[in-house]
Amino acid sequence: MSIDNLPPLKQVIDTHGLAAKKSLGQNFLLDLNLTAKIARLSGRNEDHDVLEIGPGPGGLTRGLLSEGARKVLAIEKDERCLPALAEISDAYPDRLKVMSGDALDINPLDHLTSPIRIAANLPYNIGTELLVRWLTPPDWPPFWDSLTLMFQREVAQRITAEPGSKAYGRLAILSQWRTDAKIVMNLPPEAFSPPPKVSSAVVHLAALPEPRFAADAAMLQHVTATAFNQRRKMLRSSLKSLSSDIEDHLIAADIKPTDRAEQIDVERFCALARSLKAA
Ligand code: SAM
Repeated sequence: MSIDNLPPLKQVIDTHGLAAKKSLGQNFLLDLNLTAKIARLSGRNEDHDVLEIGPGPGGLTRGLLSEGARKVLAIEKDERCLPALAEISDAYPDRLKVMSGDALDINPLDHLTSPIRIAANLPYNIGTELLVRWLTPPDWPPFWDSLTLMFQREVAQRITAEPGSKAYGRLAILSQWRTDAKIVMNLPPEAFSPPPKVSSAVVHLAALPEPRFAADAAMLQHVTATAFNQRRKMLRSSLKSLSSDIEDHLIAADIKPTDRAEQIDVERFCALARSLKAA
């Protein structure tokens, strides 16, 4: 049974000539029951506006609307998708606003009312950049309550990784510093059209009321990016560009200068960011 009275997504793609473009990271979800399930993983949205990046032919958009989202603001770069999205807008009067353009350049806040959630099957080429932006505003809490995001499975594992693991790095630290992050669904390549080369996963990140540990977001981002850029080196060497007194800062943060980045938990990276910021 369809979740709404609109045509099946395969038909929408054929009618509007939406052959997938690799350059735009287009791997479409065609199963509306699956998109409704992903929408439910983002929470009950009757009282929330939802920001969606990259609606494409509108599978997840329809899931969010049929599951009751108060309003959806969808930002899409591919103008070919606009007529298909207009049909969804007509079917859900006053509940879908579509903005045409690059999500990296558009400020969505003028068109959203709190409380806000973000849900998206992100284009792989801008996924981590958007995530890092959402996680690192100077002030906290952010404009959103939670993020429900589809990534390549390897990226999802980097977000939820624990210290000491191969996947642990900047994304794990920035995510776990300010949110509760967990993988809530795994999807095989065949769930998409065309199927990508790798598996995917949905990650749910719930914003904490306050960061777990005090730190300046820009400094923490800089320190973690520098440390994991040369993850096999000892920190006294990989971080020496940050300060001529880097060993003192490491010791002040309870880190051995001979430790490597992947051994250091979020708390000690925050302590290091505080020490460097204070200097
Ligand atoms: N949400 C749809 C779904 O689940 O089937 C499509 C997801 S597809 C992985 C990513 C979508 O993001 C595509 O529709 C693509 O055109 C769009 N996109 C790519 N780069 C974008 C950008 N910079 N800003 C906004 N949308 C973008």
